[in-house]
Amino acid sequence: MSVLPILCWPDARLKQVCAPVAGDVSALAADMLDTMYAAKGRGLAAPQVGHMVRLFVMDTGWKEGARRPQVFVNPELVVSYDRFESGEEACLSIPGVAARVMRPPEVLIRWTDLEGVGHEAQMTGFDARCVQHEMDHLNGLVIFDRLPPEHRAQMEKDYAR
Ligand code: ZN
Repeated sequence: MSVLPILCWPDARLKQVCAPVAGDVSALAADMLDTMYAAKGRGLAAPQVGHMVRLFVMDTGWKEGARRPQVFVNPELVVSYDRFESGEEACLSIPGVAARVMRPPEVLIRWTDLEGVGHEAQMTGFDARCVQHEMDHLNGLVIFDRLPPEHRAQMEKDYAR
């Protein structure tokens, strides 16, 4: 297990759509969890460490309680609602930036675990926000891509300083 270097925006790999996972990614997932905890994050997607596959890890509550690592292989958003809420998001690939992003507060997500077992769960609250943020990474999107144009321009300028 090891801590991997995290790519920073605007690295071109953060703008690519990732391919489905085929084969065993348990070693990569373990490294991604180590990397996420070391960076004090709550979620990390494979493209953020240069692996262009549909995989992310998440543990939204570890700073407040016990670690509960979750691995999502080939995740799919099944339903997202047409209601949106604003919430603050940070990203390990855009250090020092926090942006308010509009997202549905509830989603139904389907994924496979490392043993190949399928799961489906209704997520709400910060979990819902986090899975949508990580799903965006798998589709080549970051929080900047979710902002209105003027707000985005300002945020990118602040980040570039
Ligand atoms: Zn991110």
